[in-house]
Amino acid sequence: MGAVRTCRELRLVTDTADQGILRRVFADLHIHIGRTACGKPVKISGSRDLTFANIAHEASERKGIGLIGIIDSHSPAVIEEIDALIGAGEMEEVPGGGIRYRNTVVLLGSEIEVRDPGCGPAHLLVYMPDLAAMRTFSSWMSKHMKNVTLSSQRIYVTARTLQTTAYELGGIVIPAHIFTPHKSVYGSGARRMAEFLDLERIAAVELGLSADTEMAGLLTELDRYPFLSNSDAHSLAKIGREYNALLLAEPSYTEWLKALRGEAGRTIMANYGLRPQLGKYHRSYCTQCACVFDQDHAVTDRCPSCNGRIVRGVIDRLLSIADRNAGTAQEDMAEHQQASARPPYIHQVPLEFIPGLGRRTLDKLFDHFGTEMNIVHEVPQASLAEAVGTDIAARIADARSGILQVEVGGGGYYGRVRIERR
Ligand SMILES: [Zn+2]
Ligand SMILES: [Zn+2]
Repeated sequence: MGAVRTCRELRLVTDTADQGILRRVFADLHIHIGRTACGKPVKISGSRDLTFANIAHEASERKGIGLIGIIDSHSPAVIEEIDALIGAGEMEEVPGGGIRYRNTVVLLGSEIEVRDPGCGPAHLLVYMPDLAAMRTFSSWMSKHMKNVTLSSQRIYVTARTLQTTAYELGGIVIPAHIFTPHKSVYGSGARRMAEFLDLERIAAVELGLSADTEMAGLLTELDRYPFLSNSDAHSLAKIGREYNALLLAEPSYTEWLKALRGEAGRTIMANYGLRPQLGKYHRSYCTQCACVFDQDHAVTDRCPSCNGRIVRGVIDRLLSIADRNAGTAQEDMAEHQQASARPPYIHQVPLEFIPGLGRRTLDKLFDHFGTEMNIVHEVPQASLAEAVGTDIAARIADARSGILQVEVGGGGYYGRVRIERR
């Protein structure tokens, strides 16, 4: 299956390469900032070395990601930092929107928590076209939240007001990790986005680590929106654990918007992500005995072994709010244009999850082949084997094609990759 999809993807590249305009750009659009350049916290749970400059450098030099969305760019200290980087000539604003650093263009974003009356909390991602718009947006936000310097803060206006303000500034809104049990539109917000969001002012939705295209296809409300798969990284190493392949003329904000709308040949070519079972909120779990329930167990509100309270995993929540039958979903979706034109979702195990692939081996791979995207997408297995041996090379090849087996994740723990002896 993986091989067939990869062929389709390659054909797309060659078709358009003939025209000499569009090219494949890897994009990961949800990265948090841990600290400002002078060490002040932004995302408290984020790693210390996750600064604006370090993220751009990691994306350009190690990951090979051409378009990177830095969430938390609204923080006034971060805006100052960007100003300084531009002033020093290390970065520059690009005409289409975004900030270039070497091989990567950074998009400026912010993750914001909304909570409308009668609804639960939900995270929204807002992206601004350029630094001037982000500055205006940040000062507007500061009037409606307790501490604008921090990440993912609650805003005290309705979700629709936030949407209107973002769009008036030329920005867009994308609901974040839409099914996760804590703070997402479907996981905790409401059964339907329409209950608190303006459906016209949503540019795409982010699937999140425990979901994929097939799962999201069970909700008809999502038929009209493109899907994105992003890492939501809280450390440099996690950048690119989920990402998208886009077909663009160049990495920039306007080109990205065209891809989301499918304009002028720009498109999302593929989503790359973890198998949903690897995500840490995939299955329901008991808060008391931490027991995770697998597919075969019917899910109730109370744990069958200790009677503790059960937190619903992404898959169980989704099945409880779905309005499309899993069995007939494929045919059903084909009737809807946007849904039937969906790019493939390719299940890929990130390099850091591969057993036996430690830091030293990884460094060796980077020394030989440059970036992670190169290692994952381009380098032939034989060349990998020459650098790090046949065993590891075979595992990387398995990861590419989605053959690696995984154990189910849940209760805040990631699933694990299992090596089957062949
Ligand atoms: Zn979030
Ligand atoms: Zn986030």
